[in-house]
Order: sequence, then C-alpha cells, then structure tokens
Amino acid sequence: MRAEKAEIIAVGTELLLGQIANTNAQWISKELAALGLPVYSHTVVGDNMDRVRTCFKAAGARSDIIIVTGGLGPTEDDLTRDAAQEIFGQELVEHEPSMVKILAVFERNGRPMTLNNRKQSHVFQQAEVLTNSKGMAPGQIVEHEGTIWVFLPGVPSEMKALMEEEVLPKLRERFEWKSQIVSEMMRFIGIGESRLETELSDLISTQTNPTIAPLASEGEVGLRLTATGETDAEALQSIEALKEKILERVGGHYYGSDAVTIEEKVKQLLESRNYTIGSAESFTGGMFMENLVALPGASAVCEGGIVSYTPAAKEQVLQVPSFIIKEFGTISHECAEVMALNAQAILRTDIGISFTGVAGPEESEGKAPGTVYIGLQIGERKPEVHELYFHGAREQVRHRAVKKGFELLFQRLK
Ligand code: ATP
Repeated sequence: MRAEKAEIIAVGTELLLGQIANTNAQWISKELAALGLPVYSHTVVGDNMDRVRTCFKAAGARSDIIIVTGGLGPTEDDLTRDAAQEIFGQELVEHEPSMVKILAVFERNGRPMTLNNRKQSHVFQQAEVLTNSKGMAPGQIVEHEGTIWVFLPGVPSEMKALMEEEVLPKLRERFEWKSQIVSEMMRFIGIGESRLETELSDLISTQTNPTIAPLASEGEVGLRLTATGETDAEALQSIEALKEKILERVGGHYYGSDAVTIEEKVKQLLESRNYTIGSAESFTGGMFMENLVALPGASAVCEGGIVSYTPAAKEQVLQVPSFIIKEFGTISHECAEVMALNAQAILRTDIGISFTGVAGPEESEGKAPGTVYIGLQIGERKPEVHELYFHGAREQVRHRAVKKGFELLFQRLK
C-alpha cells in the first residue's frame, strides 16, 4: 500500500493568537519527508467545536494520513476527541491502562484526581492505542474510510516521543515506502531572480521530478531542487542531472549549495590561492571585515581593515592624498581607487578592497543616497573601481554594498 497524501492539523487557540509557534507541524513534516511521505498541508484551528469539526471533515475527504496534535487534555476546551467522534461514529471508551497510569500520577503527587481527568484516558473503541511515555493522554490511531488518523498530545516532548516510539515505526511497517526525497539548495549571486527564471523558464515549467523552486533573498537567489526516487541514490542522480543543465546556462553565477554562504565561499577561494585581504571602509563601517572575521579560521586570509569615515580620517589614517579629496571628493572613483591601493599597501596584503559611498538618507558631496564606489586592488593587476547605485534605506544600502563586494571578489577569484 502506498500513501499518497498526508496532512497535519494543529488544534489550539494559542497557536492562532501567535502565543506559540506551530513547531509540532514543522517537526512532523520533516519526519514524514524523511519517510518519503508527501505532506500537502498544515492547518491550525482554534479550540472551537464547529471549526474543528469542519476542518476534520475537509481533511478526511482529501487525505490518506492525517496527524492531529493538541486538544487531548482534560479541560472543556480540549475538544479534539469529541469533534472526531462525530466523523467516526465510534464510541469513546475509557482505556484502562491509561486510567491506571493517570491515577498513579495523582497518587504520587498526593493530589485528588478531578473527574475531568478521566477524559484524558478516553479513546475510540476501535483505536490502536499508543503509549505516551512522557505524559498522561495516550495517542491513538484510528482508521476510518481508508484514511489513517493519528491523534497526539500538543506538548512537543510528548508528541515527539509518541511519533518516534510508536507512530513512525508503525507507518513504516504499514506502507511500502517507495520513495525517498532528496533536495539541494543551489545558491547564485550577481543574477536577479527574474533573469534566472527567464534563463531556466522551460526547465522550471516542465520539471516535475525534480521540481525547481526559486527563492530570492537579499542580493542573492536560490533554487531548491527536490527529487524523489526509489532510493536516495536514484533521487540524487536526478538532482545531479538537472543541476548540470542549470549550470550550463547560469553556472557563472553559482557559488555553492546548501549551507555555504558567499562570505564562506570567498574565504575558501582566498585560502586556496594563498591570498590575504585588507579593507578600507567608509560608510560600511567595517561590516565587510566583520563578515569575514565572523568565519572560523578567518585569520588565514584576513589581515585587517581600516575604518576611515571622515575625510580627515581618510587622509591621516589611509593616506589618501588631500588633492584627491579636494578635487574629486571622498565619494568618487578616484578616492575608492586610492583607498583600495593604500589598504593593500598599508596592511601588506595581496588584495585591497574599499567601500566609499552615501548610505543616506541625506545626500553627501552632491551625490545621491545609494551612490557607492567599490575599489579592488588584486596583486599587481590594474585597479578596478565599480560605481554602483543601491535603492533602499541606510542599512540596506550598507548591506547590499558589502554583499556586492563579496560578489566582485567571487567573480575575480573563482
Ligand atoms: P495535554 O494532554 O498534555 O493537555 P493537549 O493535547 O491538550 O496536551 P494542548 O493543551 O493543545 O495539548 O497543548 C499543550 C501545550 O503544548 C501548549 O500549551 C503548547 O505549549 C504546546 N503545544 C500545543 N500545540 C503545539 C504545536 N502545534 N506546536 C508547538 N507546541 C504546541
């Protein structure tokens, strides 16, 4: 038997109020994905009988496996069982071993048990009862009209224990798992999301296995490739084949996959070439160096950085000649070039990189906010200066400029 569709329902008004995050659904989804079972939806529903009932009915009509967490406690608003009862048309009965356990807990704590606690031991007549090793309410599995319903307590530690000890092994046994899911996040820089999508539009629209999902974040684009196969190796193989096609078209912008970052990639490239780097930073205030130094082992490639914010600091510390500042200003091609050259010379590195610009919100030296010059001096190569313009508020301009610096280094060093 093959399960086609699973879904997860979390019951609890706390979740809807934003008081807690639905970490149960996230955790269960990961576990089911690892089993190769596709999860089609997550639903959160408050502690309201009508709404829980409606939600359960819709789920029963569309899914093969439904995992419900929460609402199994002793109080009035714990209504998961009662809502499901109407759908199943099965009696709820007291589960003797669970009742014994609940009584023992109260006895141990020296407290009398209130009547409503009996409710926690109630299970459906034809349920497969699951032992809760971490709490009082048992879990249960009910099969109804071809759909498997799994009910678990909301408390994450209890839910996880029940999943690991009872539910996952049973699901594995019950279904003939045919597919494994493998995914890879490919990371690109220096190409916008729309251009990437245009370059790959035929692949994106025709692929079903693997699927391709573009994902844009600050200054970068990712492509998540997800493949299913009978084995991990088969799924991996189809990812590799698609990856090759993608790299043929936009490989120049690809810097790595999954957990790697552009900063890390640049650090690796510097290391592999035995290069050291130093920075001269104005409006980025040391952010470029901070991003490199944050990486373990940065000392192998980072010599240091000079933050020279004012014109005076640029002159005195970075030794930018005063005629450059007078004639061209500090936000200029010429100033960026000297800053990069001097960073390289003063810090005695293979590479000097400089950042000067207007972070905003006000203009400066007659230049609009967002105007940025990045200078690059690599060994004895001809110096380069990139004049750029970034939209956005002060922080965005600063972050985007630093990211661009890493992109330029990646392009030159790869
Ligand atoms: P118990 O039987 O222990 O009373 P329950 O099944 O009644 O549990 P709830 O009362 O709904 O579960 O939730 C108990 C606690 O578990 C909540 O206060 C919350 O801290 C946590 N919880 C519930 N649902 C979730 C969820 N979806 N994700 C993360 N935490 C949750």
